[in-house]
Amino acid sequence: MESKIANVVRKIPLSGIRVMLQKAAEYDNCISLGIGEPDFDTPKEICNQALKDALNGATHYTQSQGDPELVKEIQRYLNERLSEDFSPQQIVVTTGGVGGLTSFFRAVLEPGDEVLIPEPYFPPYRHHIEWVGGKVIEVRTHFKDDFVPSPEDIEEAITPSTKVLLLNSPHNPTGAVIPSAILDKIAKIAVERDLLVLSDEVYERLLFDGQIHESIRTRPGMNERTVVVHSFSKSFAMTGWRIGYAFGPEWVIGPMTKVVSSYTSCAPSVSQRAAVAALRLGSEIIDSMTEEFCARRDQVFEDLKQLPGVKVFKPAGTFYLFPDINKITGDSLKFALDLLEKQQVVVVPGDTFGPSGKGCVRIALTVNRELLTEAMKRIRAFIKDIS
Ligand code: PLP
Repeated sequence: MESKIANVVRKIPLSGIRVMLQKAAEYDNCISLGIGEPDFDTPKEICNQALKDALNGATHYTQSQGDPELVKEIQRYLNERLSEDFSPQQIVVTTGGVGGLTSFFRAVLEPGDEVLIPEPYFPPYRHHIEWVGGKVIEVRTHFKDDFVPSPEDIEEAITPSTKVLLLNSPHNPTGAVIPSAILDKIAKIAVERDLLVLSDEVYERLLFDGQIHESIRTRPGMNERTVVVHSFSKSFAMTGWRIGYAFGPEWVIGPMTKVVSSYTSCAPSVSQRAAVAALRLGSEIIDSMTEEFCARRDQVFEDLKQLPGVKVFKPAGTFYLFPDINKITGDSLKFALDLLEKQQVVVVPGDTFGPSGKGCVRIALTVNRELLTEAMKRIRAFIKDIS
């Protein structure tokens, strides 16, 4: 009967993350640095407000574009963050950041259209593109450049079929942030070569060392051709609420709203109420979570630097580190599986995210500092053992 399943779905491989988590279930006493999800619970102010609103009837469909009160809060938030006025028609509320990604691709891609993606990258991108007949063209990035995409390499990959360039900054799995001058150059190429840009900025609040988030959308000529995806999952510790939004020019947000309408009718109404509360929360709670991730990054970065055969750069944002272990082994999967078997620590093989991740592993800083200390002790012992 499996042959009846659509080819495009059948060929999705079990992700390296799932492989590791399934294996990890066989062990007690595992420390998982595998999953890209904040360990904090959603702030209770958000939960309480959503609960109250649900009891008061926020249990119905909303408009496909989103609960008008949420759209208004998003307008206010974007105005504060980007000093720009957005009309409600430039915003659509989605079921997680993933809902924004999929409705964008469903709205713009025709079979055969090419989408350029710097790799390594968040694996579901490929599925959302291929489900509508699009073609992923990977653009390699390199450890020596902290995995920042090269504008020249992007330009070289453009063909007459290229319709979209997908950027993700701050970046999963590497934690890299695209510097301002590189954004300028990429934007110039996008305008000259008439590309649409999908800018996945779901980690926009998770930046360290006083850095200010920059979006390619702000570059000359870009606001007409860029859709930005935001999410409440990472910054507000709201992964399970499945709530996010996209914003951009009306000519594409309108069709994306049509997709949302057919696909999910609307984002979950209670989650939309939680999102209103999140945006009204003020920044202290989010800042304190970001500070904690920054302290964890510093701790693990210093520890990794000391390990023989390990190279690491300091990520500017997110909660990931992406060390290079090539001097120990180029086989990231074997390294991860052996580390799990010998020391019960879960990391994700870097090539799960694309060939440029070969010989690297992704470490998610999603356990507390005490557990991180223990995990690093185990990783040190493992490397000593196999070297
Ligand atoms: N984009 C990137 C780069 C991610 O890492 C993730 C989740 O891990 C998402 C989008 C989707 O997040 P969500 O759908 O939970 O908002």
